[in-house]
Amino acid sequence: MNILIFGPNGSGKGTQGDLLMEKFGIAHIESGAVFRQHVGQGTELGKQAKDYMDRGELVPDEITIPMILDILGKSSKGWLLDGFPRNMEQARNLFEALTKAGMILDYVVEIKLPRQTAKERIMGRRLCAVNNNHPNNIFVDAIKPAGDKCRVCGGSLSARADDQNEEAINKRHDIYYDEKEGTLASAYYFKDLAVQSETRYIELDGSKSITEVKGDLIAQL
Ligand code: AMP
Repeated sequence: MNILIFGPNGSGKGTQGDLLMEKFGIAHIESGAVFRQHVGQGTELGKQAKDYMDRGELVPDEITIPMILDILGKSSKGWLLDGFPRNMEQARNLFEALTKAGMILDYVVEIKLPRQTAKERIMGRRLCAVNNNHPNNIFVDAIKPAGDKCRVCGGSLSARADDQNEEAINKRHDIYYDEKEGTLASAYYFKDLAVQSETRYIELDGSKSITEVKGDLIAQL
């Protein structure tokens, strides 16, 4: 089972991604998390990526595309790809690589959310040290942390620096909502391809609660 998931930062993409990963027993490949791991470990790739990440800009395609395609090639049991592609260059490269490897794309999931709502959600979100996808947001009543701890497991919480920087958030959303060359353009590229193939394109209303979005997703799988 191979799945692509799209949604602006703040749409609950990571949370829904976890559900898909558990249901199908596939690897969750999250490009942002892969980069953060490199930065944390101080690798050469991490050093190259860090400044772009801090500014909310895309890490250059020459670095990102081979890194992701290499991980995909090693995930033969299926994958959920989250955070890639983010522009048309990445989308076309991904499509070519899938075709060449004979990999079928089973689902493409798009979580829709208005830009302003996404921004508010990002600024309030807190990351659990145990699982970054445990939902915690100081501005959303349904998923308020338990004091300063994770509401799911009690793990310690922190905020990502690029989540507290309004300029960086705006840049990330400029890229996401760009329907000509950006991330939405790549989602629509795969939507068009889905019409001519066995891929199913699922659209979800991300403004609903996590449980409702989960229900909508499961109903369409
Ligand atoms: P995210 O956790 O998805 O918000 O990603 C954090 C940062 O990692 C982004 O702001 C980019 O700098 C970088 N990044 C993640 N995915 C990609 C990608 N597909 N292409 C380029 N840069 C990326």
